[in-house]
Amino acid sequence: MTSQYRRGMVFNEKEVFGKGSPGRCGVDFSDTGIPEADVSALAPETHLRRELKGFPELSEPEVIRHFTRLSQWNYGVDSNIYPLGSCTMKHNPRVNEAVARMKGFTDIHPFAPESACQGTLKMIHDLGDWLCEITGLDAATLQPAAGAHGEFTGLLMIRAALAKRGDARTKVLLPDSSHGTNPASAVFCGYQAVTIKSGPDGKIDLDELSRLMDNSVAALMVTNPNTLGIFESNIVKAAHIVHERGGFLYCDGANLNALMGRAKLGDMGVDVAHINLHKTFSTPHGGGGPGAGPVCVVKELAPFLPVPVVVEEGGKYRLDADRPETIGKIHGFHGNVGILLRAAAYILSMGADGLKAATETAVINANYVKAKLAGHYHEPTPGKSMHECVFNDKLQNEHGVTTLDIAKGLIDRGYHPPTIYFPLIVRGAIMIEPTETESLETLDAFCDAMIDIAKQAKENPESLKSAPVNTVVRRLDEAWAARNPELKCGICG
Ligand SMILES: *Cc1c(COP(=O)(O)O)cnc(C)c1O
Repeated sequence: MTSQYRRGMVFNEKEVFGKGSPGRCGVDFSDTGIPEADVSALAPETHLRRELKGFPELSEPEVIRHFTRLSQWNYGVDSNIYPLGSCTMKHNPRVNEAVARMKGFTDIHPFAPESACQGTLKMIHDLGDWLCEITGLDAATLQPAAGAHGEFTGLLMIRAALAKRGDARTKVLLPDSSHGTNPASAVFCGYQAVTIKSGPDGKIDLDELSRLMDNSVAALMVTNPNTLGIFESNIVKAAHIVHERGGFLYCDGANLNALMGRAKLGDMGVDVAHINLHKTFSTPHGGGGPGAGPVCVVKELAPFLPVPVVVEEGGKYRLDADRPETIGKIHGFHGNVGILLRAAAYILSMGADGLKAATETAVINANYVKAKLAGHYHEPTPGKSMHECVFNDKLQNEHGVTTLDIAKGLIDRGYHPPTIYFPLIVRGAIMIEPTETESLETLDAFCDAMIDIAKQAKENPESLKSAPVNTVVRRLDEAWAARNPELKCGICG
């Protein structure tokens, strides 16, 4: 099959500060006859800039071409498959965007009276209910702005519940496969993060859990399916061990794309879970947000939810802040409402059957990729996976080729690389999450590129060391680039 990728028509583009010429301008206004404002009263003279030295002067088409060309060096899920494991880079249906831009939602002021924003309040209320239905939990907050923020919020609620029992605890247990935000959130909440070693099958070792779980442990934080793409089939037993000794089970729900519509976290004994709306419920993400990380909890933890909570009484919606045990506010107003709207639109347009089908297709797609690449790349945990699969560079190491070289080889073939060197427990990990929105043709083309790289690694390993060669920017020394960033401003030098 011919690659979707071809070279040509990609332009070199230099810094905007070296372009244009003095006096050139984008838009000309004729003299309006209005006198120039006297700004000297607004700020001391030293703070006023009368002239911008070295500011580029360009025509409108020059400016447009500059930014358009730079954007063409970029890559996004709208250009091709974006198989970053753990990130769920799926297609974002445009109907979500249309709904998030509806004037009835965008034109209300955060301080508008409740009576003037019933639609938005109903949306927040209903979305919370739907997320509880999907997770099998009892109550929700939609305030957190991201997954990590949700973890922090969930752990604060656990801390508050334990404090109420008069049973302050000091530790949070986490498997060694966990996402870095998990131990970070535990530490932020004042807990000591204690690592549990995974078993050889990549799952939580129950004996190890039993050994570590005592009355100093506030919670076990698990990701299910975990970051190896494996379902923690012992979760119910793990929940039992944790509950028996007075702890809570926190589930990092960032991988809900493998469960929604098929299995509920509440049924597995989970007490608190955060959900990444920007992943599973389809909001464009990457590059820093905004996102949303709602948290769903069991009844016992509901009194501690952040305020205000949207409540419904006789068909009317209002904000309830009169909750004495609340952990307080964790975001201004209601969090990132635009993201909530996209998630609500996604859930409504998919329906229950659609969400279930998305999960099933995500899992089938990952297993298809896993089966096609097996033999070409080493599998640390052979067998079936959930919505993502993990390989490593063990076979390629024999030829001196590493995961980084494989990733760069993919760039030369027109693909964004998968997540690499994560999870940390797999040496040279290559973690692929194709998602349900990729076609069979795209999956085949991606796998062909991966197989072609494995062949290049065997036959001509040296040539992979200089990849990428087809891009505008060639291989960067990433450590150097991160430690000595060249941040130049054309104005101040
Ligand atoms: C993405 C992710 C997170 C963090 O979510 P953010 O929204 O980026 O803060 C936590 N855990 C897992 C498993 C993830 O994939």
